[in-house]
Amino acid sequence: RRADEAAGDELTRLAERHLVQPWPVSGSIGAEARGRIEAGEGIYVTDAAGRRLIDGPAGMWCVNAGHRNRQLADVMAAQAMELSYNSPWYTTNAPSAVLSARLAEHAPDGIDHVFYTTGGSSAVETALRFMQFANNVKGRPEKKLIVSRQGGYHGSTYLSASLNGRPRDHDWMDSAADLVVKLSCPDPFRRPEGMSVEAFCDFLVEEFRAVIEERGAEHIGAFIAEPVMASGGVIVPPAGYLKRMHALCRANDILFIADEVVTAFGRLGHVFASQDVFGIDPDMITFAKGVTSGYFPLGGVMIAGRLFEELRRSNHSEAMFAHGLTYSSHPVGCAVALKNLDILEDGLLDHARAITDHFQASLKALEDLPLVGEVRGLGLMACVECVADRVSKNPLTLDLEVGKRIDRHCQELGLLVRPLINMCVMSPPLTITSAQIDDMAAILRKGI
Ligand code: PLP
Repeated sequence: RRADEAAGDELTRLAERHLVQPWPVSGSIGAEARGRIEAGEGIYVTDAAGRRLIDGPAGMWCVNAGHRNRQLADVMAAQAMELSYNSPWYTTNAPSAVLSARLAEHAPDGIDHVFYTTGGSSAVETALRFMQFANNVKGRPEKKLIVSRQGGYHGSTYLSASLNGRPRDHDWMDSAADLVVKLSCPDPFRRPEGMSVEAFCDFLVEEFRAVIEERGAEHIGAFIAEPVMASGGVIVPPAGYLKRMHALCRANDILFIADEVVTAFGRLGHVFASQDVFGIDPDMITFAKGVTSGYFPLGGVMIAGRLFEELRRSNHSEAMFAHGLTYSSHPVGCAVALKNLDILEDGLLDHARAITDHFQASLKALEDLPLVGEVRGLGLMACVECVADRVSKNPLTLDLEVGKRIDRHCQELGLLVRPLINMCVMSPPLTITSAQIDDMAAILRKGI
Protein backbone atom coordinates (compact mmCIF):
# COMPACT_ATOMS: atom_id res chain seq x y z
CA ARG A 1 0.00 0.00 0.00
CA ARG A 2 2.84 2.40 0.87
CA ALA A 3 4.32 1.82 -2.59
CA ASP A 4 0.90 2.57 -4.12
CA GLU A 5 0.59 5.76 -2.12
CA ALA A 6 4.07 6.87 -3.14
CA ALA A 7 3.24 6.17 -6.79
CA GLY A 8 -0.01 8.11 -6.37
CA ASP A 9 1.80 11.07 -4.84
CA GLU A 10 4.23 11.02 -7.74
CA LEU A 11 1.33 11.12 -10.24
CA THR A 12 -0.16 14.09 -8.44
CA ARG A 13 3.21 15.85 -8.56
CA LEU A 14 3.57 15.14 -12.29
CA ALA A 15 0.10 16.53 -12.99
CA GLU A 16 0.74 19.59 -10.84
CA ARG A 17 3.98 20.30 -12.60
CA HIS A 18 3.09 19.52 -16.19
CA LEU A 19 -0.63 19.15 -16.83
CA VAL A 20 -3.08 21.93 -17.65
CA GLN A 21 -6.70 20.92 -17.11
CA PRO A 22 -9.81 22.44 -18.72
CA TRP A 23 -11.26 25.67 -17.37
CA PRO A 24 -8.43 26.49 -14.95
CA VAL A 25 -8.28 29.78 -13.04
CA SER A 26 -5.21 32.03 -13.15
CA GLY A 27 -4.47 31.49 -9.47
CA SER A 28 -3.77 27.78 -9.94
CA ILE A 29 -3.22 27.36 -13.68
CA GLY A 30 -0.39 24.98 -14.42
CA ALA A 31 -0.10 24.00 -10.76
CA GLU A 32 -3.14 21.89 -9.96
CA ALA A 33 -4.08 18.22 -10.02
CA ARG A 34 -7.76 17.41 -9.74
CA GLY A 35 -8.95 14.18 -8.15
CA ARG A 36 -7.60 11.22 -10.04
CA ILE A 37 -9.84 8.45 -11.38
CA GLU A 38 -8.05 5.14 -11.67
CA ALA A 39 -10.58 2.75 -13.15
CA GLY A 40 -14.14 2.29 -14.32
CA GLU A 41 -16.63 -0.53 -14.61
CA GLY A 42 -20.28 -0.24 -15.65
CA ILE A 43 -21.76 2.82 -13.97
CA TYR A 44 -18.91 3.00 -11.43
CA VAL A 45 -15.47 4.59 -11.34
CA THR A 46 -12.79 4.08 -8.73
CA ASP A 47 -10.83 7.06 -7.47
CA ALA A 48 -7.24 7.24 -6.29
CA ALA A 49 -8.32 6.59 -2.69
CA GLY A 50 -9.89 3.31 -3.81
CA ARG A 51 -13.47 4.57 -3.39
CA ARG A 52 -16.05 3.16 -5.78
CA LEU A 53 -18.27 5.99 -7.02
CA ILE A 54 -21.39 5.99 -9.17
CA ASP A 55 -20.42 8.01 -12.24
CA GLY A 56 -23.39 10.38 -12.03
CA PRO A 57 -22.44 12.50 -15.05
CA ALA A 58 -21.15 9.54 -17.15
CA GLY A 59 -17.81 11.33 -17.42
CA MET A 60 -18.91 14.43 -19.33
CA TRP A 61 -22.33 13.17 -20.51
CA CYS A 62 -20.58 10.65 -22.69
CA VAL A 63 -20.02 7.17 -21.26
CA ASN A 64 -23.47 6.08 -22.41
CA ALA A 65 -22.70 2.35 -22.74
CA GLY A 66 -20.90 2.33 -19.39
CA HIS A 67 -17.25 1.83 -18.48
CA ARG A 68 -15.14 -1.19 -19.33
CA ASN A 69 -17.35 -2.47 -22.11
CA ARG A 70 -15.51 -5.43 -23.56
CA GLN A 71 -17.20 -5.18 -26.99
CA LEU A 72 -16.11 -1.57 -27.45
CA ALA A 73 -12.58 -2.29 -26.24
CA ASP A 74 -12.24 -5.32 -28.51
CA VAL A 75 -13.49 -3.56 -31.62
CA MET A 76 -11.08 -0.72 -30.96
CA ALA A 77 -8.13 -3.09 -30.72
CA ALA A 78 -9.23 -5.10 -33.77
CA GLN A 79 -9.66 -2.01 -35.93
CA ALA A 80 -6.29 -0.62 -34.83
CA MET A 81 -4.69 -3.88 -35.97
CA GLU A 82 -6.65 -3.90 -39.26
CA LEU A 83 -6.21 -0.24 -40.22
CA SER A 84 -5.19 2.28 -37.59
CA TYR A 85 -5.33 5.38 -39.78
CA ASN A 86 -5.84 6.56 -43.33
CA SER A 87 -5.83 10.05 -44.79
CA PRO A 88 -9.38 11.34 -45.11
CA TRP A 89 -8.12 13.75 -47.79
CA TYR A 90 -7.14 11.16 -50.37
CA THR A 91 -8.78 7.92 -49.22
CA THR A 92 -11.77 6.55 -47.39
CA ASN A 93 -12.31 3.55 -45.13
CA ALA A 94 -14.99 0.95 -44.49
CA PRO A 95 -16.04 1.90 -40.93
CA SER A 96 -16.69 5.54 -41.84
CA ALA A 97 -18.71 4.61 -44.94
CA VAL A 98 -20.90 2.12 -43.06
CA LEU A 99 -21.29 4.41 -40.05
CA SER A 100 -22.39 7.30 -42.29
CA ALA A 101 -25.14 5.17 -43.80
CA ARG A 102 -26.29 3.92 -40.40
CA LEU A 103 -26.39 7.44 -38.96
CA ALA A 104 -28.34 8.64 -41.99
CA GLU A 105 -30.93 5.93 -41.28
CA HIS A 106 -31.49 7.33 -37.80
CA ALA A 107 -31.42 11.00 -38.77
CA PRO A 108 -34.54 12.86 -39.90
CA ASP A 109 -35.47 12.30 -43.56
CA GLY A 110 -33.19 14.18 -45.93
CA ILE A 111 -30.28 14.45 -43.48
CA ASP A 112 -28.17 11.90 -45.22
CA HIS A 113 -24.55 13.05 -45.10
CA VAL A 114 -22.01 13.31 -42.32
CA PHE A 115 -18.70 15.14 -41.88
CA TYR A 116 -16.66 13.63 -39.04
CA THR A 117 -14.68 15.68 -36.56
CA THR A 118 -12.75 15.04 -33.36
CA GLY A 119 -15.42 16.17 -30.91
CA GLY A 120 -18.27 18.58 -30.30
CA SER A 121 -16.49 21.93 -30.65
CA SER A 122 -15.05 20.97 -34.01
CA ALA A 123 -18.49 19.65 -35.07
CA VAL A 124 -20.10 23.01 -34.25
CA GLU A 125 -17.21 24.85 -35.90
CA THR A 126 -17.67 22.71 -39.02
CA ALA A 127 -21.43 23.40 -39.17
CA LEU A 128 -20.84 27.15 -38.89
CA ARG A 129 -18.03 27.24 -41.41
CA PHE A 130 -20.21 25.25 -43.79
CA MET A 131 -23.01 27.80 -43.41
CA GLN A 132 -20.54 30.62 -44.15
CA PHE A 133 -19.12 28.76 -47.15
CA ALA A 134 -22.56 27.92 -48.54
CA ASN A 135 -23.70 31.51 -48.33
CA ASN A 136 -20.51 32.72 -50.02
CA VAL A 137 -21.02 30.24 -52.83
CA LYS A 138 -24.66 31.23 -53.17
CA GLY A 139 -23.64 34.85 -53.62
CA ARG A 140 -25.01 36.16 -50.35
CA PRO A 141 -21.91 36.69 -48.21
CA GLU A 142 -23.78 39.08 -45.92
CA LYS A 143 -26.04 36.26 -44.61
CA LYS A 144 -23.75 35.11 -41.79
CA LEU A 145 -25.08 36.14 -38.39
CA ILE A 146 -25.50 33.24 -36.00
CA VAL A 147 -28.29 33.27 -33.46
CA SER A 148 -27.64 31.37 -30.21
CA ARG A 149 -29.11 31.57 -26.72
CA GLN A 150 -28.17 32.74 -23.26
CA GLY A 151 -27.29 29.69 -21.20
CA GLY A 152 -26.21 27.63 -24.20
CA TYR A 153 -22.88 25.85 -24.56
CA HIS A 154 -21.38 24.90 -27.91
CA GLY A 155 -17.65 24.44 -27.40
CA SER A 156 -14.19 25.81 -26.83
CA THR A 157 -12.91 26.66 -30.30
CA TYR A 158 -13.06 30.36 -31.17
CA LEU A 159 -16.29 30.43 -33.17
CA SER A 160 -18.14 27.74 -31.22
CA ALA A 161 -17.14 29.43 -27.95
CA SER A 162 -18.41 32.75 -29.28
CA LEU A 163 -21.91 31.25 -29.24
CA ASN A 164 -21.75 30.25 -25.59
CA GLY A 165 -24.26 32.02 -23.43
CA ARG A 166 -23.18 31.39 -19.86
CA PRO A 167 -21.80 34.57 -18.27
CA ARG A 168 -18.59 32.95 -17.06
CA ASP A 169 -17.73 31.82 -20.60
CA HIS A 170 -16.96 35.38 -21.62
CA ASP A 171 -15.70 37.16 -18.51
CA TRP A 172 -12.04 36.86 -19.46
CA MET A 173 -12.20 35.55 -23.00
CA ASP A 174 -12.34 37.21 -26.41
CA SER A 175 -14.94 36.14 -28.91
CA ALA A 176 -16.33 36.79 -32.38
CA ALA A 177 -19.16 38.74 -30.77
CA ASP A 178 -19.97 40.71 -33.91
CA LEU A 179 -21.01 37.48 -35.64
CA VAL A 180 -23.44 36.41 -32.93
CA VAL A 181 -26.86 37.47 -31.61
CA LYS A 182 -28.05 35.89 -28.38
CA LEU A 183 -31.66 35.24 -27.50
CA SER A 184 -33.10 34.65 -24.05
CA CYS A 185 -32.60 31.33 -22.31
CA PRO A 186 -35.79 29.24 -22.70
CA ASP A 187 -35.79 28.37 -19.00
CA PRO A 188 -39.35 28.02 -17.71
CA PHE A 189 -38.12 28.06 -14.08
CA ARG A 190 -36.76 31.58 -14.52
CA ARG A 191 -39.52 32.98 -16.71
CA PRO A 192 -40.76 36.44 -15.74
CA GLU A 193 -42.89 36.38 -12.64
CA GLY A 194 -46.59 35.96 -13.24
CA MET A 195 -46.10 34.78 -16.83
CA SER A 196 -47.55 31.40 -17.82
CA VAL A 197 -45.25 28.92 -19.54
CA GLU A 198 -47.35 29.29 -22.72
CA ALA A 199 -46.97 33.07 -22.66
CA PHE A 200 -43.24 32.63 -22.00
CA CYS A 201 -42.99 30.45 -25.10
CA ASP A 202 -44.78 33.15 -27.12
CA PHE A 203 -42.34 35.72 -25.75
CA LEU A 204 -39.32 33.63 -26.80
CA VAL A 205 -40.63 33.08 -30.31
CA GLU A 206 -41.56 36.74 -30.70
CA GLU A 207 -38.10 37.74 -29.52
CA PHE A 208 -36.59 35.68 -32.36
CA ARG A 209 -39.08 37.13 -34.83
CA ALA A 210 -38.12 40.65 -33.70
CA VAL A 211 -34.40 39.90 -34.17
CA ILE A 212 -35.10 38.63 -37.68
CA GLU A 213 -37.05 41.79 -38.47
CA GLU A 214 -34.49 44.09 -36.92
CA ARG A 215 -31.36 42.51 -38.43
CA GLY A 216 -33.04 41.29 -41.62
CA ALA A 217 -33.33 37.63 -42.62
CA GLU A 218 -30.84 38.39 -45.38
CA HIS A 219 -28.19 38.84 -42.67
CA ILE A 220 -28.92 35.78 -40.53
CA GLY A 221 -27.28 32.52 -41.58
CA ALA A 222 -28.10 30.11 -38.78
CA PHE A 223 -29.87 29.48 -35.52
CA ILE A 224 -28.15 26.98 -33.23
CA ALA A 225 -29.77 25.30 -30.24
CA GLU A 226 -29.23 22.36 -27.96
CA PRO A 227 -32.68 20.69 -27.93
CA VAL A 228 -32.22 20.44 -24.17
CA MET A 229 -29.56 22.83 -22.90
CA ALA A 230 -27.04 20.64 -21.13
CA SER A 231 -24.26 22.58 -19.40
CA GLY A 232 -26.63 25.51 -18.91
CA GLY A 233 -28.38 23.32 -16.31
CA VAL A 234 -30.55 20.83 -18.24
CA ILE A 235 -32.98 23.44 -19.49
CA VAL A 236 -35.99 21.76 -21.10
CA PRO A 237 -37.67 24.39 -23.27
CA PRO A 238 -41.44 24.99 -23.15
CA ALA A 239 -43.58 22.59 -25.23
CA GLY A 240 -43.70 23.67 -28.86
CA TYR A 241 -40.76 26.09 -28.57
CA LEU A 242 -38.37 24.18 -30.84
CA LYS A 243 -41.05 23.57 -33.49
CA ARG A 244 -41.95 27.24 -33.60
CA MET A 245 -38.30 28.37 -33.73
CA HIS A 246 -37.73 25.84 -36.50
CA ALA A 247 -40.73 27.18 -38.45
CA LEU A 248 -39.33 30.73 -38.19
CA CYS A 249 -36.00 29.48 -39.53
CA ARG A 250 -37.64 27.75 -42.49
CA ALA A 251 -39.78 30.77 -43.30
CA ASN A 252 -36.69 32.98 -43.36
CA ASP A 253 -34.17 30.67 -45.01
CA ILE A 254 -32.12 30.46 -41.81
CA LEU A 255 -30.36 27.15 -41.20
CA PHE A 256 -31.46 25.35 -38.05
CA ILE A 257 -28.50 23.62 -36.40
CA ALA A 258 -29.48 21.21 -33.64
CA ASP A 259 -26.51 20.78 -31.33
CA GLU A 260 -27.10 17.21 -30.19
CA VAL A 261 -23.64 16.69 -28.73
CA VAL A 262 -25.32 15.67 -25.46
CA THR A 263 -28.89 14.73 -26.44
CA ALA A 264 -28.01 12.15 -29.13
CA PHE A 265 -27.06 8.48 -28.77
CA GLY A 266 -29.60 7.49 -26.21
CA ARG A 267 -29.47 10.29 -23.65
CA LEU A 268 -33.10 11.08 -24.55
CA GLY A 269 -33.93 7.50 -25.54
CA HIS A 270 -33.23 7.81 -29.27
CA VAL A 271 -30.19 7.97 -31.53
CA PHE A 272 -31.11 11.56 -32.44
CA ALA A 273 -33.67 13.51 -30.43
CA SER A 274 -34.54 16.28 -32.91
CA GLN A 275 -37.25 14.42 -34.75
CA ASP A 276 -37.96 11.47 -32.49
CA VAL A 277 -38.46 13.60 -29.36
CA PHE A 278 -39.17 17.12 -30.61
CA GLY A 279 -40.65 16.57 -34.08
CA ILE A 280 -38.25 18.83 -35.96
CA ASP A 281 -35.97 18.17 -38.91
CA PRO A 282 -32.96 20.46 -38.60
CA ASP A 283 -30.69 21.31 -41.53
CA MET A 284 -27.65 20.15 -39.60
CA ILE A 285 -27.19 18.08 -36.44
CA THR A 286 -23.93 18.19 -34.53
CA PHE A 287 -22.97 15.20 -32.40
CA ALA A 288 -19.99 13.84 -30.39
CA LYS A 289 -19.60 12.32 -26.90
CA GLY A 290 -22.08 9.40 -26.79
CA VAL A 291 -21.37 8.44 -30.41
CA THR A 292 -18.47 6.35 -29.09
CA SER A 293 -19.62 6.32 -25.46
CA GLY A 294 -16.49 8.36 -24.85
CA TYR A 295 -14.14 5.49 -25.79
CA PHE A 296 -12.68 7.46 -28.71
CA PRO A 297 -12.71 11.20 -29.49
CA LEU A 298 -15.15 11.46 -32.38
CA GLY A 299 -17.82 13.93 -33.41
CA GLY A 300 -19.52 15.04 -36.56
CA VAL A 301 -22.14 17.06 -38.36
CA MET A 302 -25.10 15.49 -40.10
CA ILE A 303 -25.94 17.65 -43.11
CA ALA A 304 -29.10 17.71 -45.23
CA GLY A 305 -28.32 16.54 -48.78
CA ARG A 306 -30.47 19.40 -50.04
CA LEU A 307 -27.74 21.84 -49.00
CA PHE A 308 -25.21 20.09 -51.25
CA GLU A 309 -27.65 20.06 -54.15
CA GLU A 310 -28.02 23.82 -53.81
CA LEU A 311 -24.25 24.18 -54.02
CA ARG A 312 -24.01 21.90 -57.02
CA ARG A 313 -26.58 24.10 -58.78
CA SER A 314 -24.66 27.31 -57.99
CA ASN A 315 -22.43 29.13 -60.46
CA HIS A 316 -19.31 28.28 -58.49
CA SER A 317 -18.65 24.59 -58.93
CA GLU A 318 -14.95 25.32 -58.33
CA ALA A 319 -15.51 26.83 -54.85
CA MET A 320 -13.69 24.75 -52.25
CA PHE A 321 -14.92 24.08 -48.72
CA ALA A 322 -11.40 24.48 -47.34
CA HIS A 323 -12.06 22.62 -44.13
CA GLY A 324 -10.78 19.26 -42.94
CA LEU A 325 -9.22 17.61 -39.94
CA THR A 326 -6.41 15.06 -39.89
CA TYR A 327 -8.63 12.79 -37.82
CA SER A 328 -11.86 13.24 -39.81
CA SER A 329 -13.43 9.80 -40.47
CA HIS A 330 -10.93 8.08 -38.18
CA PRO A 331 -11.28 4.33 -38.80
CA VAL A 332 -10.85 3.38 -35.15
CA GLY A 333 -13.33 6.00 -33.97
CA CYS A 334 -15.87 5.03 -36.60
CA ALA A 335 -15.47 1.30 -35.81
CA VAL A 336 -16.11 2.01 -32.12
CA ALA A 337 -19.12 4.15 -33.05
CA LEU A 338 -20.54 1.31 -35.15
CA LYS A 339 -20.27 -1.14 -32.27
CA ASN A 340 -21.72 1.47 -29.92
CA LEU A 341 -24.66 1.87 -32.30
CA ASP A 342 -25.15 -1.92 -32.27
CA ILE A 343 -25.26 -1.80 -28.48
CA LEU A 344 -27.80 1.02 -28.52
CA GLU A 345 -30.00 -0.70 -31.10
CA ASP A 346 -29.71 -4.11 -29.43
CA GLY A 347 -31.45 -3.05 -26.24
CA LEU A 348 -29.75 -0.06 -24.65
CA LEU A 349 -32.13 2.48 -26.21
CA ASP A 350 -35.09 0.39 -25.01
CA HIS A 351 -33.56 0.18 -21.56
CA ALA A 352 -32.91 3.93 -21.44
CA ARG A 353 -36.52 4.64 -22.36
CA ALA A 354 -37.81 2.09 -19.85
CA ILE A 355 -35.78 3.49 -16.97
CA THR A 356 -36.45 7.18 -17.66
CA ASP A 357 -39.59 7.62 -15.56
CA HIS A 358 -37.97 6.05 -12.52
CA PHE A 359 -34.85 8.17 -12.97
CA GLN A 360 -36.80 11.41 -13.27
CA ALA A 361 -39.19 10.56 -10.42
CA SER A 362 -36.38 9.55 -8.05
CA LEU A 363 -34.62 12.86 -8.54
CA LYS A 364 -37.82 14.92 -8.59
CA ALA A 365 -38.50 13.61 -5.08
CA LEU A 366 -35.51 15.70 -3.89
CA GLU A 367 -37.68 18.81 -4.32
CA ASP A 368 -38.89 18.27 -0.75
CA LEU A 369 -35.45 19.34 0.50
CA PRO A 370 -35.46 23.00 1.56
CA LEU A 371 -32.30 23.86 -0.39
CA VAL A 372 -33.69 22.55 -3.64
CA GLY A 373 -35.52 25.06 -5.84
CA GLU A 374 -36.25 22.78 -8.74
CA VAL A 375 -35.40 19.38 -10.15
CA ARG A 376 -35.92 19.22 -13.89
CA GLY A 377 -34.92 16.96 -16.71
CA LEU A 378 -35.78 14.80 -19.65
CA GLY A 379 -34.68 11.29 -20.57
CA LEU A 380 -31.58 10.38 -18.64
CA MET A 381 -30.45 13.92 -17.94
CA ALA A 382 -31.53 15.94 -14.93
CA CYS A 383 -30.49 18.93 -12.85
CA VAL A 384 -30.98 19.67 -9.17
CA GLU A 385 -30.89 23.43 -8.67
CA CYS A 386 -30.29 24.88 -5.20
CA VAL A 387 -31.74 28.28 -4.38
CA ALA A 388 -31.45 30.71 -1.47
CA ASP A 389 -35.24 30.62 -1.21
CA ARG A 390 -38.04 29.56 -3.47
CA VAL A 391 -39.57 33.00 -3.82
CA SER A 392 -36.55 34.93 -5.07
CA LYS A 393 -35.12 31.79 -6.74
CA ASN A 394 -31.71 33.41 -6.26
CA PRO A 395 -28.95 30.86 -6.61
CA LEU A 396 -27.82 29.59 -3.22
CA THR A 397 -24.27 30.77 -2.53
CA LEU A 398 -21.88 29.47 0.11
CA ASP A 399 -18.17 29.96 0.74
CA LEU A 400 -17.57 27.09 -1.68
CA GLU A 401 -19.88 26.75 -4.71
CA VAL A 402 -22.90 24.73 -3.61
CA GLY A 403 -22.55 22.23 -6.44
CA LYS A 404 -18.92 21.60 -5.50
CA ARG A 405 -19.81 21.21 -1.85
CA ILE A 406 -22.56 18.71 -2.66
CA ASP A 407 -20.19 16.86 -4.96
CA ARG A 408 -17.64 16.67 -2.14
CA HIS A 409 -20.19 15.19 0.28
CA CYS A 410 -21.54 12.82 -2.34
CA GLN A 411 -18.07 11.55 -3.17
CA GLU A 412 -17.61 10.60 0.48
CA LEU A 413 -20.85 8.64 0.16
CA GLY A 414 -20.08 6.98 -3.19
CA LEU A 415 -21.37 9.25 -5.94
CA LEU A 416 -19.74 11.60 -8.42
CA VAL A 417 -21.97 14.51 -9.48
CA ARG A 418 -21.37 17.22 -12.06
CA PRO A 419 -21.31 20.46 -10.09
CA LEU A 420 -22.37 23.60 -11.96
CA ILE A 421 -22.22 26.58 -9.60
CA ASN A 422 -25.47 26.12 -7.62
CA MET A 423 -26.60 23.08 -9.60
CA CYS A 424 -25.85 19.38 -9.75
CA VAL A 425 -26.28 17.68 -13.07
CA MET A 426 -26.96 13.97 -13.32
CA SER A 427 -26.64 12.02 -16.57
CA PRO A 428 -25.48 8.50 -15.67
CA PRO A 429 -24.50 5.75 -18.08
CA LEU A 430 -27.65 4.48 -19.81
CA THR A 431 -26.92 1.03 -18.42
CA ILE A 432 -27.99 2.14 -14.94
CA THR A 433 -30.56 -0.13 -13.25
CA SER A 434 -33.55 0.79 -11.09
CA ALA A 435 -31.72 -0.25 -7.92
CA GLN A 436 -28.67 1.81 -8.89
CA ILE A 437 -30.92 4.83 -9.51
CA ASP A 438 -32.28 4.38 -5.99
CA ASP A 439 -28.71 4.33 -4.61
CA MET A 440 -27.83 7.43 -6.59
CA ALA A 441 -30.87 9.38 -5.40
CA ALA A 442 -30.36 8.30 -1.77
CA ILE A 443 -26.74 9.47 -1.79
CA LEU A 444 -27.67 12.74 -3.46
CA ARG A 445 -30.34 13.33 -0.80
CA LYS A 446 -27.82 12.81 1.97
CA GLY A 447 -25.18 14.85 0.19
CA ILE A 448 -27.50 17.84 -0.23
N1 PLP B 1 -21.98 21.21 -27.75
C1 PLP B 1 -22.54 20.84 -26.60
C2 PLP B 1 -24.03 20.87 -26.47
C3 PLP B 1 -21.75 20.41 -25.52
O1 PLP B 1 -22.31 20.06 -24.36
C4 PLP B 1 -20.35 20.35 -25.71
C5 PLP B 1 -19.48 19.89 -24.61
O2 PLP B 1 -19.86 19.70 -23.49
C6 PLP B 1 -19.81 20.77 -26.91
C7 PLP B 1 -20.65 21.18 -27.93
C8 PLP B 1 -18.32 20.74 -27.14
O3 PLP B 1 -17.89 19.43 -27.28
P1 PLP B 1 -16.35 19.03 -27.07
O4 PLP B 1 -16.03 19.30 -25.64
O5 PLP B 1 -16.33 17.57 -27.44
O6 PLP B 1 -15.54 19.84 -28.01
